[in-house]
Amino acid sequence: MADAKGTDWRTGPTRRPSAYGAARTDPDPLEPPTMSRSRVQIAGSYAPGVLMTWEGGKGICRSVPLANEAKDLKPTTIELIFENLNDAVTNWRDRAVKLLPDALPELVLDTPFRDSKTGEARVQRGDFQMTSPDKVGYVPYPLLYRCGICGSTREFDSIADQARQPLPKKCNGHEARWTQVDVVYAHWSGDIEPLSPFNYNFDPQTGTARQIRMCTCGSSSFKLRNAAPVFSEWRYVCEGCGETRSLKKANREVLERLQIQQNDGGRTFQWIEVNMLPVSYRANSTFYVQRTSFIVFEDSAVVELMTPKRRAALIARLAQIHAIPFAEPSEDQIRESVEADQVRAGEWDEYETYRGMAQKAEEAGRTGAARRHRENADDLREAWFADGVVARGQLGSPAVLQAMAAREDWTRRYDPIRLTIQHDAFVREHIEQAMTRHGSVDVMTPDVALTDVVNDPARKAKYQKTVGTLLGHLGVERLVLIRGLPICEFSFGYTRVAATPIYQREHNGQRVDMPVRLKAFGQLPIAENKRPIYVTQQLNEALYFKLDEERVLRWLTANQIVDVPKEHIGRAYLERYADFGPFLEVFKDREGMGSYPRTLPAYVYLLLHTLSHQMMHSLADTSGVDRDGIGEHIFPADLSFVIYRKGMTPDLGNISAMWRNYSESFLKRALDPRTLRCGSGNLCDTRGGACPACVMVSEVSCIASNLLLSRAVLKGGKGPEWEPGSAPNLIGFFDPGLA
Ligand SMILES: [Zn+2]
Ligand SMILES: [Zn+2]
Ligand SMILES: [Zn+2]
Ligand SMILES: [Zn+2]
Repeated sequence: MADAKGTDWRTGPTRRPSAYGAARTDPDPLEPPTMSRSRVQIAGSYAPGVLMTWEGGKGICRSVPLANEAKDLKPTTIELIFENLNDAVTNWRDRAVKLLPDALPELVLDTPFRDSKTGEARVQRGDFQMTSPDKVGYVPYPLLYRCGICGSTREFDSIADQARQPLPKKCNGHEARWTQVDVVYAHWSGDIEPLSPFNYNFDPQTGTARQIRMCTCGSSSFKLRNAAPVFSEWRYVCEGCGETRSLKKANREVLERLQIQQNDGGRTFQWIEVNMLPVSYRANSTFYVQRTSFIVFEDSAVVELMTPKRRAALIARLAQIHAIPFAEPSEDQIRESVEADQVRAGEWDEYETYRGMAQKAEEAGRTGAARRHRENADDLREAWFADGVVARGQLGSPAVLQAMAAREDWTRRYDPIRLTIQHDAFVREHIEQAMTRHGSVDVMTPDVALTDVVNDPARKAKYQKTVGTLLGHLGVERLVLIRGLPICEFSFGYTRVAATPIYQREHNGQRVDMPVRLKAFGQLPIAENKRPIYVTQQLNEALYFKLDEERVLRWLTANQIVDVPKEHIGRAYLERYADFGPFLEVFKDREGMGSYPRTLPAYVYLLLHTLSHQMMHSLADTSGVDRDGIGEHIFPADLSFVIYRKGMTPDLGNISAMWRNYSESFLKRALDPRTLRCGSGNLCDTRGGACPACVMVSEVSCIASNLLLSRAVLKGGKGPEWEPGSAPNLIGFFDPGLA
């Protein structure tokens, strides 16, 4: 093996061996060379476990994790990473178990992602380390070589093994021409292995699968005959007796587990579940990195208010945001509660003292001191509520209180209570605070960077009229361009053979579903052998849309939603929301045979989601931003959504330039009747009005699996598929009658 400089990395300049992985116990420890790639590349296409060619095509390697703790992450960001990781792992298991209820839990989730007793998804923080994707190591792999002259093969168990007894110069009497075999076995359980003539057999005595590393003739040398264009015709040929063997080989772990299950009276397995697939190391199917992203918040409330002990504070916050009646306790009630508390009783005096001092300071004109004293008093008061010394107050909505109890079982992604708190932080941090440093700008009050009309009153008035009118047609009350929305993206593991929880293996004309195991990255060479999570944070451009509430109310009424409130849709949304479920099962294609009634939450979500996709398409068309590189986030109870550039796309488009040059076309395109028709013809219209040819986006960009979408909510037409066929047609949100 040689690196880019052409020197052998084992004999090159000595490196101080570090504590690299299992090599620590090796008598001849070797440190893998490291490589530098961009953070984005290492978090993605060079993540640990991938097979690749090192520069210059000199050999095949497997990348391995190196310790490189990410120390710059805020506690709230770490909380959100674990929250999102938990969701991703739970979702993986749910999707697998739904199709394969009998799948062994250990073949669905890797050890760090699962409770060893129940088999359910579980993520323990101590098992992971936040890692900065600045560097990754690589080791030669597979350690299987074939002589180009005669086809003879040599395999090594480890790099140390190979270093001790290098490949011979002579092979079968000629000058050897060794090259790495560039085909490996891959299995959807997440393993890769070098090709081998030795299969595994289950030994009922020991309950394990074993390999006889020898031919029946006693020889252990095999040639690999690899001239055939298909792997099924490749053969291993024994150098002793000439016996041939196919590449068939069981995955050891899967064989053991399925055979034990069968022997214990469980399901009878088929060999196609066990046998690995020979694939080129270059094939995509050898490695799929698993990653996800979210919007970063500074305010710890987005995670803290979600915990049971902050329930009271959450109630108060929701009441304030969605104008829900809320009876605060009086000062007298507070005093009584504090004085009745054995431990905290003394704090009431302290509180009064701060208040008195604040008042005195105020009278003396010392405003700074007054503010400090008042803050001290407020902190005490807040702590009484937070610690449950004083009951926070009564919420005037039993339905919201019920929702707060029920939400524990809700799918987090659509939980409107969580999203309400996120929206509150979003507006404060990413819009209001950002505006003070030109980090965001309302398109109706533009700055010079957004458009050059700013210094010309006449042109500015014309701009505002044009943009204002178009936003009016769209039913958008506020549109804000955010210049640096912090997006955190993290990779937490990988899969092989398939990127999704189920792999359909075709065999003799039948299709058999196989569970794809979600694997954590390999262990870091540090104490406790934690697994790395690769984190990247980027500031990306985004557009925030908030709909006109009056218009939404008129639209809901026009579409015969039951009990449309006079105002405060947000409150009604929280009161009426019922869990959408992880798969949005009730909103799947029912071909008009559904029975889901027209509820306010489903319709509000449908509207926001469809409009979000409409704007994503418009943005891709006018900005050059790659369609798959746009993400969406929906805040249903606040009638708003955000579309943003995801960090990983290497395209050259950007949203600011789009707005400067094409703002009018961007908005007009979204309203254009042609974009509201579907090119694929009648079928899309009769089936609820959403297909890949029109309003859908790719699975990786959509927050809701391309469900809860219909062009008809914007342009009018046949109602969504989950409703009974008899449901009346929709009045579109863009209908001039509603404007
Ligand atoms: Zn040879
Ligand atoms: Zn033989
Ligand atoms: Zn369509
Ligand atoms: Zn979507």
